[in-house]
Amino acid sequence: MRCGCGRKMKRAEVELRGFKLKGFRCACGEEAFDPRDVERVRQAVNEEVKARRVAHSLVVTVPRPLAKLAEIRAGDSLKWLFSENRLILEKN
Ligand SMILES: [Zn+2]
Repeated sequence: MRCGCGRKMKRAEVELRGFKLKGFRCACGEEAFDPRDVERVRQAVNEEVKARRVAHSLVVTVPRPLAKLAEIRAGDSLKWLFSENRLILEKN
């Protein structure tokens, strides 16, 4: 794959909105993504979920596209973090 600068781009792990994806990087710093991966990330992060009450707790679901992207499976151990008014779900 050629970069706009003329050099050949190398396969690399590139980051898109916090997700690590397989893509390409040039020595000039330019990065390229597979358009299908970009679409997968766009879908996953745009999905809105509602908090539901179950007994005394609130339950939120992890939509399938997001679970696939974040490689979260049923039975995985997860931990909540709270940072700068954001809840972050961390995989152990
Ligand atoms: Zn380049």
